[in-house]
Amino acid sequence: MKVLVIGSGGREHALAWKLAQSPRVSRVHVAPGNGGTARDPRLHNVALCDIQALAEFAAAEGVALTVVGPEAPLAAGVVDVFRARGLRIFGPTRAAAQLESSKAYAKDFMQRHGIPTAAHATFDAAAAAHAHVERHGAPIVVKADGLAAGKGVVVATTADEAHAAIDAMLGASHPAGGARVVIEEFLDGEEASFIVLCDGRRALPLATSQDHKRLGDGDSGPNTGGMGAYSPAPVVTPAVHAKVMREIIAPTLAGMASDGVPFTGFLYAGLMIGAQGEVRTLEFNTRLGDPETQPILMRLQSDLCEVLLHAADGTLDAVELQWDPRVALGVVMAAAGYPAAPRSGDAIDGLPADEAEAMVFHAGTRVQDGRLVTAGGRVLCVTALGDSVALAQRLAYERLAGIRFAGMQYRHDIGHRAIGR
Ligand code: AMP
Repeated sequence: MKVLVIGSGGREHALAWKLAQSPRVSRVHVAPGNGGTARDPRLHNVALCDIQALAEFAAAEGVALTVVGPEAPLAAGVVDVFRARGLRIFGPTRAAAQLESSKAYAKDFMQRHGIPTAAHATFDAAAAAHAHVERHGAPIVVKADGLAAGKGVVVATTADEAHAAIDAMLGASHPAGGARVVIEEFLDGEEASFIVLCDGRRALPLATSQDHKRLGDGDSGPNTGGMGAYSPAPVVTPAVHAKVMREIIAPTLAGMASDGVPFTGFLYAGLMIGAQGEVRTLEFNTRLGDPETQPILMRLQSDLCEVLLHAADGTLDAVELQWDPRVALGVVMAAAGYPAAPRSGDAIDGLPADEAEAMVFHAGTRVQDGRLVTAGGRVLCVTALGDSVALAQRLAYERLAGIRFAGMQYRHDIGHRAIGR
């Protein structure tokens, strides 16, 4: 059968790579894809982004399953459009995607359904928001309501920082549109990503993972979309895992269904795990994480196409996921100037050949005059398997060592938290 992956990042390269391994899949289209999906003979890039055009393409091409990578098309209703045309697609509807696209919706949802999260208040007027910060002091967290391209959250260590964040986010020039801010209690602990596959009623957990958001070694420097990740996450012990399924995932699926917006798709709970193993939800994403997907899919032994067909058709009870017991670890190589102003067009050399144990997933790359060049902030994710975090880390950095592009940036310590445990 033919499948279509929507998106152009490392997550989508990994999805397409894994889908292409399925004996049921004859052709994998990626729209729009990147330089890595362009160079893989089993994958076919389609230069489309518009939702109606994508649905047209899927119908004309006889695509049996479409998988959506990024949040933007989900929030824009790609699933609703495909379903209305009778096309099978895996992802949440526009209404269900509000769990990610609107922080106010997500917080209200969690409060109504008793899902553990930070205490919060929502404001559309700056004066009330400032007064709230005055009352509670710092540390405190200020979030823009809406998809904000990574500029949506300020963890303020001082009240002044919080006031400045409110003014910036309620200003008209902010990417989230300047409508509302959510102010939250600061939670202390260790973060982990908990991603489940949902068929509207049931949830099947993927392997756990942790990412590294800061640009620099030792978790220093500005926040980024993610500089590396590994799976499994040792902080998610079996007891924590059971607690997350019971206290967060199950009530979320039940709550969405009882609210009349059953959730189908990947549901990503960003967790804060306290010192005593208490679990709280920092945020929901309604899609796979990037770069967590790359190590997670390196470990998946099941047929991803079959799993996603069941999930899209509401028959997830027929599925069990098999995982490679080894650790997978991915190191992101970012462009010069990332994250503030990534530079494009730098030639990339020295890519190693793909191996079962080590893959280079592409994100911001494209092929220009037959050469591979940078075309975005996060450029590559070098992902490797190993019997321990240290061995996976060693292999990933060995494969990365030959890769060169002007101004490249990467962290040297991906996996340090897991190794430190
Ligand atoms: P979010 O997009 O809501 O996940 O926030 C991005 C990052 O900000 C998270 O990964 C955390 O590192 C941090 N963060 C968000 N909310 C809180 C909170 N209530 N307490 C502490 N850190 C937070």
